[in-house]
Amino acid sequence: MSAPSTTVASTATCWSCSAATGGTHFCPACGKIQPLPRGADYFAFFGLPRKLTIDSTDLERRFHSLSWKLHPDNFVRTSEEERQLSLDRSSQLNDAYRTLAEPVARVEYLLGLAGMRKEGQKKQQAPPELLEEVFELNESLDELRDARAPGGDGAQMSSLRAKLEAAQHKFESSLADVDQELGRVTTEWDRALDSSADDAAQKKVMERMNEVLNRRSYIRNLVNGVRQELAGT
Ligand SMILES: [Zn+2]
Repeated sequence: MSAPSTTVASTATCWSCSAATGGTHFCPACGKIQPLPRGADYFAFFGLPRKLTIDSTDLERRFHSLSWKLHPDNFVRTSEEERQLSLDRSSQLNDAYRTLAEPVARVEYLLGLAGMRKEGQKKQQAPPELLEEVFELNESLDELRDARAPGGDGAQMSSLRAKLEAAQHKFESSLADVDQELGRVTTEWDRALDSSADDAAQKKVMERMNEVLNRRSYIRNLVNGVRQELAGT
């Protein structure tokens, strides 16, 4: 990973007293609120390592404590600059919390930080293990649209509905599988960090996470598409 935030943050100094802040929200020497150091990330914002297993209770606790400390109400008697910093940091805090609280968004974010989030080049391409089902699904969807069209064979509707419902269940279970796989590969990521795996090993895990995310978004689109069609029948 390039330019870890710790290096950037550790060179940060207080705008008011010039003490080294280590990238903290408040200067350890004078207590003044600090701007977010350039290159700081959402993990660092909460004082967390870049790990993907996050205890949601702990994250929520950190969030509440920070939102209280950074709240603009605490800065009504300070300078305009400090009031602005409190507004900026509070809004960054909300973005950071929303992203890290959601496991998939958290993975997307981590990959984005490392420049490793790459959408599939052929977005419309089905994962190989689903090719046949996707082909059948598209056929059923075409038939459904034909049956629904004026002059279409309305009698076919209920059997087509049943087919689509079966497909929906199938893809929902594929989505659950891919979520489990994402869970496994994120655990692998945490282990790689724990064992200080080298850049090449980390990159490999990130490539796998990216691939799983692409598969997940493909399947999720399928599930949503079928749901929409069924709602329209
Ligand atoms: Zn200071």
